[in-house]
Amino acid sequence: MVEMRGKAVSDGIKARIGERLEEVKAALGRKPKLTIIRVGDNEADGAYARSALKKVTDFGMEAELCSLPGDSRISEFEKLLKAKSDDKNVDGILVLRPLPEGFEERAKLLLDPEKDLDGMTYINQARVFCGESEGFAPCTAAAVIRLLEHYGVELEGKHAVIAGRSNVVGKPLSMLLLEKNATVILCHSKTPEEILDRELSEADIICLAVGKAGFLSSQRVKESAVIVDAGINSLEGGGLTGDADYEALKGRCAMISPVPGGLGAVTTAVLCESLFEAARRRTGL
Ligand code: NAP
Repeated sequence: MVEMRGKAVSDGIKARIGERLEEVKAALGRKPKLTIIRVGDNEADGAYARSALKKVTDFGMEAELCSLPGDSRISEFEKLLKAKSDDKNVDGILVLRPLPEGFEERAKLLLDPEKDLDGMTYINQARVFCGESEGFAPCTAAAVIRLLEHYGVELEGKHAVIAGRSNVVGKPLSMLLLEKNATVILCHSKTPEEILDRELSEADIICLAVGKAGFLSSQRVKESAVIVDAGINSLEGGGLTGDADYEALKGRCAMISPVPGGLGAVTTAVLCESLFEAARRRTGL
């Protein structure tokens, strides 16, 4: 069984950015810069923001965190979005989710699509839907494809099952897999248990984005299955786990990504790659 670890993928992305970073920095007259916008103090957001800030710096670029209190007025959020969208010294923006009610709808319209590295705007959603490669897909969805490709998993003609249909993971991932000529089944909380079981037991590729520890057990999959786990769940007493019962599945499937150590590192590396790409496009190089 192959354990699909994210570090190797992340290192490869860092090396590719490194090949052209000096050239892009010279054209910009500075390092590519990311702004992370966070509203409130959700702990999961905080952990993601810290790892993104660290990774961007480690990849030789710059990042700042702009935090608003959880009870901020929507007008303050809009003002920040517009200021960063217009700021010539900012190349990419990551708006952390979840946001207070109504905020994401405003960001979908107000964020500059060319700086929208996490595929939040309607323009980038449409580009992903239409299979246009210049759009920025949500980093987690794009990271699933990068992880699978890095480990040489053939996608064309494969039966891929996604559990979870959020706008940030499941839905865009279904489009990206479709673009790679997989046959995609998208399951959600209203999928009847017997259909879910049947699809999971027949799947060549399983992508988990549910947010429930132990959602996938070894009884549910075939031995040749490849499993990518995007789930991040806190364990009582500390630590994180994915949606798959990793210990039970280890050795009972062909490949699986661990949590932690799997997709998370790829997601932040894809964010860096999109930042570099947004900056490069601004230089015209
Ligand atoms: P979300 O918005 O809460 O969506 C969860 C999805 O799971 C929903 O579509 C829901 O269906 C579905 N679901 C719930 N119970 C189900 C069941 N029994 N069977 C099948 N589907 C079921 O979550 P999200 O933002 O997509 O995140 C999902 C997980 O990925 C979370 O653990 C999150 O922390 C993690 N995540 C990871 C990254 C990363 O970089 N690795 C990034 C983002 C999120 P309905 O639509 O019917 O409610």
